[in-house]
Amino acid sequence: MKHSFFQNLGIDNHLSKTASSPDDRRKTDYLSSVSPIDGDVLAHLPVTSRPEYDHTITKLNSSFAQWRVFPSPKRGEIIRQYGLKLRKHKIDLGRLVSVEMGKSLQEGQGEVQEMIDICDFAVGLSRQLYGKTIASERPQHHMLERWHPLGIVGIISAFNFPVAVWSWNAMIALVCGNVCLWKPSEKTLLCALACQQLLQEVLDENNINYPISAVITGGKEAGQWLAADPNIRLLSATGSATMGRNVASRVGERLGKVLLELSGNNAMIITPSANQELALTAAVFGAVGTAGQRCTSTRRLIIHRSIYKDFTEKLKNAYAQLRIGNPLDKSMHIGPLIDREAVSSYHKTLDAILQQGGQFLVEGGTINPPGLEKGFYVKPVIAEISPEAEVVQNETFAPILYVMKYDTIEEAIRYQNSVNQGLSSAIMTTDVQESERFISVEGSDCGIANVNIGTSGAEIGGAFGGEKETGGGRESGSDAWKTYMRRQTITINFGDSVPLAQGIKFDI
Ligand code: NAD
Repeated sequence: MKHSFFQNLGIDNHLSKTASSPDDRRKTDYLSSVSPIDGDVLAHLPVTSRPEYDHTITKLNSSFAQWRVFPSPKRGEIIRQYGLKLRKHKIDLGRLVSVEMGKSLQEGQGEVQEMIDICDFAVGLSRQLYGKTIASERPQHHMLERWHPLGIVGIISAFNFPVAVWSWNAMIALVCGNVCLWKPSEKTLLCALACQQLLQEVLDENNINYPISAVITGGKEAGQWLAADPNIRLLSATGSATMGRNVASRVGERLGKVLLELSGNNAMIITPSANQELALTAAVFGAVGTAGQRCTSTRRLIIHRSIYKDFTEKLKNAYAQLRIGNPLDKSMHIGPLIDREAVSSYHKTLDAILQQGGQFLVEGGTINPPGLEKGFYVKPVIAEISPEAEVVQNETFAPILYVMKYDTIEEAIRYQNSVNQGLSSAIMTTDVQESERFISVEGSDCGIANVNIGTSGAEIGGAFGGEKETGGGRESGSDAWKTYMRRQTITINFGDSVPLAQGIKFDI
């Protein structure tokens, strides 16, 4: 077997012996898992049919009746054991992420570490699903607020974080007493099957013989089944703004609940007082890490005019040293894009930059590292362009960085906020007034606002998400768990009369 970790992760039975070309990826009855590193077909996987989907929903609804009464600290214990299982399989699962998605080995391992971290967070949370007691205006009454699970939580995930995003949702949803149905990206199915398989092992070891999590395979159509299905009590959807619009309108038609984590268009403001070395490292990693395929990737640098020339020279020097190639080789900085369509959208954006008056400080193009000719490798680009150009308003999921000048901090913040997306933002400054202004009500309009840290990446302890076209959802840490539960306000009368609220009299 080519990849021994398939066996270690228990997913070897999903692999077909026959190989086919990447063009065969989309077939009606199966999907192919293709490594963007070298175009290698890893597996052919059957697509879930509608009757199979309906059957899965029936099973999950009946599991929910059992799982919701399993005490939450005991649910936490299952998640604790899942965290241990992930620790044991971190190297193999991380490698699978790298092979199937194309990110570096370190980043693949980092994703699994995020899964472990959210498991730890969820274990603690399982004993802290706190409600409130509230003073009643009526004598001999008291009020309570309790949190109950919702039912089936649907999770639609994107290709670029094929395991971490699911775990941010699923680990929290599960300790809250929900059951989960996962529709992963059709481009990273093996990652999903491996996560599910490891969870199944934990359930088997604990004699839990009903499914609390299931995976369906499919593309947009399967995602739309979840969106239209009233059995899905919360749909958490991560992906492009286009997907989010479609999903939100379908869920809206049935007045369901949705949690959206959509496109970013993240900027870093570099001020005259910034520590330039720190800013350089943060900007370069933010722009080219994961080949620019992070929702938090740095897309725009807003640089003060007085340091613009100097800083862009440093950027150009840093880009000249970047090595593009096999992400499994630790000496490489940049791996491939996910597929051919991603390469084509990269080229379309390069054309648009020129048409809209931009000029390249670092030129782009496709490259073919020896032995990896069937992979999807492109050069990272730096383009100088007006902040108002149309191309700057949109997210291209590739290593394309726009640079622009500013004169006043007000102007910098205005540029930062001028796009439709609102996920991550950063300011590089040692001036306390500037940093305070950036995080004030007049500052960044994003869900994430960083000072002297780049836009890219986040810790699980905070609530993660963004505003405007990024969708407004929050997941992972802080009190994001409340989205996965329904709040019940309870009033208890321990007296002998029924006084009405607001002093209303109703004598009979
Ligand atoms: P995508 O929108 O193409 O697909 C994401 C998921 O949605 C996939 O599972 C896909 O099958 C499904 N899907 C697509 N169209 C659908 C529809 N009409 N109805 C139902 N389901 C549908 O996104 P992608 O290319 O996989 O991922 C890249 C995008 O995801 C980028 O825009 C990135 O910024 C975003 N993203 C956002 C976050 C975040 O937390 N904000 C995290 C990761 C990725």
